[in-house]
Amino acid sequence: MEVMIGKTKLSLIQGDITQQNTEAIVNAANTSLLGGGGVDGAIHRVGGPQILKECKEIRARQGGCHTGKAVITGGGKLKARWVIHTVGPIWSGKNNDDNLLRNAYCNSLTLAEEKGIRAIAFPSISTGAYLFPLERAARVALTALNDFLKKPRCLEEVRFVLFSKEILKVYEDCWKEISGLKSKLAYEGKVVKLRLDELLLPDGRKSIHETVEHRGAACAIPLLPDGRVVLVKQFRQATGEIIYEIPAGRLEEGEEPQDCIKRELMEEIGYRAGKLELLLFYYVSPGFSNEMIHIFRATGLKEEKQDTGEHELLEIVTLSLPEAFKMIKEGKIRDGKTILGLLLIRSKLSTANFWNQ
Ligand code: ADP
Repeated sequence: MEVMIGKTKLSLIQGDITQQNTEAIVNAANTSLLGGGGVDGAIHRVGGPQILKECKEIRARQGGCHTGKAVITGGGKLKARWVIHTVGPIWSGKNNDDNLLRNAYCNSLTLAEEKGIRAIAFPSISTGAYLFPLERAARVALTALNDFLKKPRCLEEVRFVLFSKEILKVYEDCWKEISGLKSKLAYEGKVVKLRLDELLLPDGRKSIHETVEHRGAACAIPLLPDGRVVLVKQFRQATGEIIYEIPAGRLEEGEEPQDCIKRELMEEIGYRAGKLELLLFYYVSPGFSNEMIHIFRATGLKEEKQDTGEHELLEIVTLSLPEAFKMIKEGKIRDGKTILGLLLIRSKLSTANFWNQ
């Protein structure tokens, strides 16, 4: 079976991993990296002693390979130029088995990407001597791959080389289930969209993941020449209370965070920033939302006529930094980006170059 996931071809075939002509093949290794049975034994047999020699060098450097991690050697006499050795978990029946198996696939794929490898072949990791239940392993493997390929990658082909007809059928059936998963937009509002994604869990159950899509936002700590900081105070419908915040705003379609915050500083507090420095950017709550906030430091502020637009219900408050920190401590400032921004300013206040200290 062959399908495209984005620009990458996924092939599921019956065969022998040692005979693959992909640029890299993956070995279901053990933590010692010294070879073993099954796939591991076959790869060392066909690839010759060079692979073991390189594995021993890796061992000397880092002492083997932990479960879920991956290392790379040349392919010796194999057709494949590279062998990625990864260690799947020995089935214990605990939840972490799924995570470790997922890591083995993700770390192998990441290593392949880092090496610029275009085509890679995997065996069914952990399902031989390590006794991971086959259907469950297939769900973990194919879900990990499907998720990995959600971002653009340079991999052109990922091949699963399954040793028997029966194993191939399990993987094919599992892929059918994954490709049949649905995703729908449940709500599209002015500020957010709510997307519902069906997920396939390792045990075969399905669950719905709710994602709040948000274009992202920019905010700034406006620092006046005398060291005070300018905040705004307003009633927030979502919390049902008045909240102190640094000036912030939602990005417009295609807008750069820097342009967004320039606009918001004018509209919310009536200042033009002489200098804007990006301090950091972060996901607000990645468990359910893709909203990212960029935090800037705004200095060289010049007062302009305030262009309030729709912001007339804002009250402007200027505070010294000790006053602001006290309010954080007392729980009076409770907005995440405001707390984070102020603490950043506090920790690096005296440094000329923010992160280079
Ligand atoms: P693990 O120790 O991770 O369980 P094994 O090598 O014991 O790994 O088995 C993993 C899977 O690889 C099993 O499904 C086994 O049938 C299969 N297998 C064994 N030899 C090969 C081979 N040469 N090519 C492809 N798959 C193989």
